[in-house]
Amino acid sequence: MADPLRILFATPEIAPWVKTGGLGDVAGALPPALIAAGAQVHVLVPYYPALRTAFPDARLLAAIDAPGGLLPACRLLEAQSGELTLWLLDMPAMFHRGGSPYLAPDGGDWSDNALRFGLLSRIAALLASDASPLDWRPDVLHLQDWQTALAPAYLHFTPGPKAASVITVHNMAFQGLFPAAVLADLALPPECFQPEGLEFWGQVSFLKAGLHYADTITTVSPTYAREIQTPALGFGMDGLLRRRASQISGILNGIDYAAWNPANDPLIACPFDADHLDAKAANTAAVRARLGLADEPHVPLLGVVSRLTHQKGLDWLAETAGRILDLPAQIAVLGSGDAALEKALEDTAATHPGRMAVTIGFDEAMAHQIEAGADAFLMPSRFEPCGLNQMYSLRYGTPPVVRATGGLADTVVDPGNGARSKASANGFVFEDESAEAFFEATARAVATWHNRNRWRRLQRNGMARDFSWRHAAQEYLTLYRRLKAARVP
Ligand code: ADP
Repeated sequence: MADPLRILFATPEIAPWVKTGGLGDVAGALPPALIAAGAQVHVLVPYYPALRTAFPDARLLAAIDAPGGLLPACRLLEAQSGELTLWLLDMPAMFHRGGSPYLAPDGGDWSDNALRFGLLSRIAALLASDASPLDWRPDVLHLQDWQTALAPAYLHFTPGPKAASVITVHNMAFQGLFPAAVLADLALPPECFQPEGLEFWGQVSFLKAGLHYADTITTVSPTYAREIQTPALGFGMDGLLRRRASQISGILNGIDYAAWNPANDPLIACPFDADHLDAKAANTAAVRARLGLADEPHVPLLGVVSRLTHQKGLDWLAETAGRILDLPAQIAVLGSGDAALEKALEDTAATHPGRMAVTIGFDEAMAHQIEAGADAFLMPSRFEPCGLNQMYSLRYGTPPVVRATGGLADTVVDPGNGARSKASANGFVFEDESAEAFFEATARAVATWHNRNRWRRLQRNGMARDFSWRHAAQEYLTLYRRLKAARVP
């Protein structure tokens, strides 16, 4: 048998232990799918408190003294979770902190984020180079977002044999921008501080380092791979991305089929599948009861689970909620984020008791219950690199209402889009960035819900699509093989 591919997967978060969004889900699901497909994968992640709790007996692999000559000493520990090998970056002063991996208790960024994620990047590069203290060497170093994106810059300036590098962009909006002065602390040579390097308008951009120095770039849906090459969604880096267009590909994320399976989800009131969609009603009733919504089975329940930020377009929901409730419909929102948006949604709910419920917070169980119990799901994102919730919705027979962007455009098919889409329609799509376009699509969904046969067809079409990680893992393996082959002299 041929040598297995060896992948070092570096990530700042990993579900189920540390997760702030879709990136955490991807890190939790893609490596096991790659292992199932025959690759050797080690996952490098900081040893946060949640991982200490989960793996208190992690074994010492290596003590690393002042990597790059300047960064602080740290240790590398190893723990096993099923088939998955975790390499835990142990540097208590940087990572043994409560709360979010990125934010201090006052809600601002940790003031030493450049050093924390500089160290994570530096160690990833070290383990991918000939200077690694370990015997195991990867063929490919796979990086995730700005928090690991300095690694290709470090590798670029590392002599000798090294792994090929690929960076996956989960969201161009998060760039890791820091004052130029951090460069000296990060032990990177001054010559990288230029537009043809990691300088971005006088600052250090971790993300740009990755986009410039990595061998190849992926992002999390084919449509988003095209969108980031435009001024509208390139966040100032579209020129660089257009120059690298031939090295950019979009690979749609999968979803975790074990955690998100309506047929055996322990977090929902009543399991169901495509052949037993009537059982969904028990989940709807349970959500209504839990959230204090009126028992109105003749009124559709619209669900939202989201960060409440400008990106997610939920200000359009705040703007039109009164009209949506009058259709009539009920609305259940779970999320947190911008204080003004939280308040606008809460205010509307307060004036419509029994019709609209807003829960501010992060609640995994409630997220599952809303996906299972809602009749339709609202996800009107201004941009959406891939989006997971619309795929959870499709799997849970909860047709999503989405804007035509990024992964939403690649997964949701509107019945109005011509004859071909009639057979595959699974939700509702609108184009314009406006409250009115969102309202119109939502009203169409509510009207369609009253036609039971058409609704069942939409539900079943969505449930029939394969969003498992198996498919995405095959695409990544093809890419890794290509990268590995290109490295052989
Ligand atoms: P993003 O990564 O931009 O936040 P995604 O749709 O890709 O959006 O992924 C969001 C993930 O976070 C999903 O797994 C979703 O269920 C989860 N999530 C978001 N907000 C909440 C919340 N308030 N409570 C529970 N889960 C949430």
